[in-house]
Amino acid sequence: MLALGGALGILFTISGCSAEVVQRGEQGKSVVQPMETPQPTPEPTDWVGGKHIDTVVEQPEGPLSPSGKSYSYYDTVKPTYINGVLLVNKDYALPRDYGNGENEVAYQALTKLQQGAWQAGYSMPLMSGFRSFETQEELYNDYVAVDGVEKADTYSAWPGHSEHQTGLAFDVGWVDLQFANTGAGQWLARHAHEYGFIIRYPKDKESVTGYQYEPWHIRYLGVDLATKVYESGLCLEEYLGVA
Ligand SMILES: [Zn+2]
Repeated sequence: MLALGGALGILFTISGCSAEVVQRGEQGKSVVQPMETPQPTPEPTDWVGGKHIDTVVEQPEGPLSPSGKSYSYYDTVKPTYINGVLLVNKDYALPRDYGNGENEVAYQALTKLQQGAWQAGYSMPLMSGFRSFETQEELYNDYVAVDGVEKADTYSAWPGHSEHQTGLAFDVGWVDLQFANTGAGQWLARHAHEYGFIIRYPKDKESVTGYQYEPWHIRYLGVDLATKVYESGLCLEEYLGVA
């Protein structure tokens, strides 16, 4: 056994293996000592036997969400309205349980937009509508796994920060930058406001919206406001004065 210990000691020394530390024993013999075993994370103090104890006010600081906020932030955050317009972006979040589907008025407007596009000779299929917090969380994590955080953040929203959770945003036509060069994409850019929508993430506004140009992502504002925003040439944050 001693010979084996010595051999192991040499092996670990040479390989630089960090799993075990070789030290000289009291009698000058090589002994192999295991490193400290990591202790299991203790159960948070306000969770007992898997049940949440509501009476405990102080919560342990848990892991941070991709936005850098604690996950509990999304249990209490309130939706933000600027001049009556629901604003969701990287600064303004929705609570975890917000929304349960497309807004009815917005969906009817979308149907009219699709009919208008059809009459102009284009199909405008709905590619993505309402997304729950949980769905967005899965999507975001999948994108991060493929592209890494930095790149994923340019095109995918953090859970709680997706406009799709409002039920007022839709991806239509073709979810690809090339959509902007198609007849359908150009029709959408010119006519979306007539149906109450804006192209939410315009070209050259990346530094304000935080997202790359998305010629397919439209946000319902109602015809009056959408037309004003469209004619202003501003993105929504600029128009609302929160840029
Ligand atoms: Zn979208």
